[in-house]
Amino acid sequence: MSENKGILLYAEVTRDKYIHTVFFELAAKAFELSKKLENCEISALLITPPADMGLYKDGFKNSGIDKVYVFQDEKFKNYDTEIYSKIAVDLVNEIKPEIMLVGATAQGRDLAPRISSSLHTGLTADCTDLDINEKGRLAATRPTFGGQLMATILCKNFPQMATVRPKVFKPLAENVVRNTEIIYKTASDTITGMTSKVELIDFVKTIQNEINELDSAEIIIAGGRGIATEEGFNLLRQLAEKLGGTVAASRAVVDSGIASKDIQIGQTGKTVRPKLYIACGISGAIQHIVGMKDSEKIIAINVDENAPIFSVADLGIVADAYKILPEIINLCNS
Ligand SMILES: Cc1cc2nc3c(=O)[nH]c(=O)nc-3n(C[C@H](O)[C@H](O)[C@H](O)COP(=O)(O)OP(=O)(O)OC[C@H]3O[C@@H](n4cnc5c(N)ncnc54)[C@H](O)[C@@H]3O)c2cc1C
Repeated sequence: MSENKGILLYAEVTRDKYIHTVFFELAAKAFELSKKLENCEISALLITPPADMGLYKDGFKNSGIDKVYVFQDEKFKNYDTEIYSKIAVDLVNEIKPEIMLVGATAQGRDLAPRISSSLHTGLTADCTDLDINEKGRLAATRPTFGGQLMATILCKNFPQMATVRPKVFKPLAENVVRNTEIIYKTASDTITGMTSKVELIDFVKTIQNEINELDSAEIIIAGGRGIATEEGFNLLRQLAEKLGGTVAASRAVVDSGIASKDIQIGQTGKTVRPKLYIACGISGAIQHIVGMKDSEKIIAINVDENAPIFSVADLGIVADAYKILPEIINLCNS
């Protein structure tokens, strides 16, 4: 039997000093998994520049976390792969979790493989589901062979590691209040002596804005091949601006070079759960639908009344998107 016990979650701090929403989604899943592991302890690793812990405390308390290990230092103002992974590895060696989960954000995708390779353990990246099998092992499911098959992967070593993209899991519907213990740690001497090999020069806002906004967007206006022109995507952007939303695309549009891969929705793109998803000129292939079907309300605009997208839509509009979008934008102006 392994001496490893409990679930450790990485609590990523965003540049606006919030805990990334994916952490609360992972916490909800960890809460479910812990029930199958004799209600094992759920802990979090927080690496942050000196901050008022009051900002974070309630979030942790209400998400069912038992312990938060906090590393605070001016050095942690900007993310650094080597320093952050060293801290995580030292903590894992100290508390020996059975499972470690990290959000598959840009930072998490960089950090998790570093941690797993230093610990000589396995990592299943971009999971779409997590469960505990009959032998009490983490069963991590993810698409494979370009999305044609779903594979459930077991990890031989400990901790069993997995990353999960934002919006794949839902945060807990109700607060699970725990008497969360905050444990302040100091980074090891190795960290004190470490200097970053990376010099951060500047953060430049690019199309990245749309990408980042997609994770938290409440309204998404998505375009497919039916509107895959510069003119079409300008209409989508205008509508997004009017409604306070952001623009996304189907793979057909990404493949045609009109949109960046980073704003692709679907099986091999992002999974989103906005309050409103407006699909324009998208046929509704299953690989697209898996990425947006949990949106609260879906409006589809398509010239073909038999387009499969209408089967998941709450409101279907059979129309030419190039003609109806300017009318909707005008309505928003009046
Ligand atoms: C392994 C694998 C993974 C994949 N992953 C993804 C993924 O992550 N995301 C994804 O999106 N796809 C993915 N695909 C591709 C997917 O199968 C579809 O090919 C793709 O979603 C089609 O994109 P589309 O709906 O924009 O284009 P089309 O299927 O060509 O549909 C265009 C639609 O626009 C309508 N239309 C045309 N003109 C107009 C107009 N003027 N106004 C209104 N409607 C109009 C048409 O009636 C049609 O329904 C994947 C495929 C595979 C095999």
